[in-house]
Amino acid sequence: MSVATTDEVRAVRLRDVALEAQDRFADAGADAVLAWAAGRFGRRLAVACSMADAVLPHLVAEHVPGVDVLFLDTGYHFPETVATRDRVADLLDVTVVDVRPRLSVAEQDAAHGPDLFARDPGACCRLRKVEPLREALSGYDAWVTGVRREEGPTRAGTPLVTWDETFGLVKINPLAAWTFEELLAYSERHLLPSNPLLAQGYPSIGCRPCTRATAPGEDPRAGRWAGSAKTECGLHPGSPATPTFVPTPTTEETR
Ligand code: SF4
Repeated sequence: MSVATTDEVRAVRLRDVALEAQDRFADAGADAVLAWAAGRFGRRLAVACSMADAVLPHLVAEHVPGVDVLFLDTGYHFPETVATRDRVADLLDVTVVDVRPRLSVAEQDAAHGPDLFARDPGACCRLRKVEPLREALSGYDAWVTGVRREEGPTRAGTPLVTWDETFGLVKINPLAAWTFEELLAYSERHLLPSNPLLAQGYPSIGCRPCTRATAPGEDPRAGRWAGSAKTECGLHPGSPATPTFVPTPTTEETR
């Protein structure tokens, strides 16, 4: 009979926490779910931020001062995005952590040929985003993302809390029900730094080679990998079906 490893036991417990919270916070507001997350995970929670705006880091820092904010520094960002990262680090009560790929852009070009993003964006995203984030998240129990349901069909069913099978930790999406207008209003109300590209027709901002401005009425993510079938970088592989919560028999809580 095989014995479960410590990591497997931890994953089962975290999964139970996630699925119970998924039901409990199905219709909750952002503050309610973040208050729960702060009490449950504290600094074992990280925020992922693309530096399009500072709403998510600001909201989470209200509950977890100094929270780690992971920025995927792919080496392909717009200068405006890097400048926004610096302003977030300077102005907010957060700790910005630059998450970098193992290979620099030059090293990747040498190993895989130039402009991998143009030939195989799936491989490029895996090397520059998914694997670095997987490594970074291994130090946490939960991560908070800015995924919103209105961003596109693959995000339409996003729950506020879920189990992240890809990375093996609790995933919290406090802005899932927010509109783009609500996001901008929050940012203005709190005088937060934001990426100037947002006001230049870029409602979704990723790496420069794979992002274009959108036209009025277009899907907010239509400017990402435009002209290809790719719609996600692999960090948010679609809204999961709602699993049924079946508690694991245990008396010890997972922190
Ligand atoms: S968004 Fe484009 S440049 Fe950035 S990691 Fe993915 S494929 Fe590479």
